[in-house]
Amino acid sequence: MTASSSGKGNVCVCDVAARDGLQSEKRIWSVNERVELINRLANTGIQRIEAVSFVNPKRVPQMADAEKVMAQIERKADVRIAGLALNMKGVERALDAGVDEVRYVVVASETFSQKNQGASIAETMTGLESIAGRVKASGKVFSAVIGASFGCPFEGEVTTSAVVDIGIRLGALGVDEILLADTIGCAVPSQVRERVGALQSALEDSTAVGCHFHNTRNTGIANAVAAVESGVRILDASVGGIGGCPFAPRATGNISTEDLVYVLRNMGYETDIDLPQLINVAAWVEGYFDDPLPGQVMKAGLFPDDVIARQAATSVQA
Ligand code: ZN
Repeated sequence: MTASSSGKGNVCVCDVAARDGLQSEKRIWSVNERVELINRLANTGIQRIEAVSFVNPKRVPQMADAEKVMAQIERKADVRIAGLALNMKGVERALDAGVDEVRYVVVASETFSQKNQGASIAETMTGLESIAGRVKASGKVFSAVIGASFGCPFEGEVTTSAVVDIGIRLGALGVDEILLADTIGCAVPSQVRERVGALQSALEDSTAVGCHFHNTRNTGIANAVAAVESGVRILDASVGGIGGCPFAPRATGNISTEDLVYVLRNMGYETDIDLPQLINVAAWVEGYFDDPLPGQVMKAGLFPDDVIARQAATSVQA
């Protein structure tokens, strides 16, 4: 079924729909609905899920009850469950709730840091040493997301050196993975290649670089391909392409997981994901929305699979 089987290796896809996808939805998903979404995703063979966010429920009511969600989901040995935290309190909650990976967010621009974290860049970086020590002592994976890595909704341009400087400081603290997040979906592929390359050459090999793209300006999949071709092997996406950011004006959804997996599969990369099953999850998610979701493969179908299936059906009839 695979269009290309040149075996280009594994790309780890992390579905963030249960967190980034739902955090700015008008209709607040119940704990049971969030648990079912995570369980359905886990059954597709996906390697990672960003399941919850340990933020103040007064600021982001959609993400309340993270502990209840964590307690109810089915855990699988080969699915890493990540939880997002913005401060030490969130990190402690994440560890108590049993996440496999703590994702800590820093932001590359000062104004967005104030709006998103309620703290300056300096403040988030100051607390980071003790947070890194706490997570590393727990034996869990510690990753850091650099928000607004390609542009800020308030300040505009964010320079490569600003992002690399933060990356170097994170790397020095022993962060396992650094994700460049295009929070407002403004990046283009040439910028991705340049920024990923600069960060990779500034970091030790022990710190992996990942990317998190939003499709706000329809550049998300092109950016993901540029990232993979630059050596990135960790990519975030959200099933159906749902999502946004409550603190970034006009932010829209992540690239859709099934569109990303389709591109990767047909380019010859492995993701371990059962793509038809993932499309079924996207269709299930769509049932909770009034409008069609942004994902396109869920509408168009797989290629060449659908063609092969149609040919088989025709030949049976003949
Ligand atoms: Zn995001």
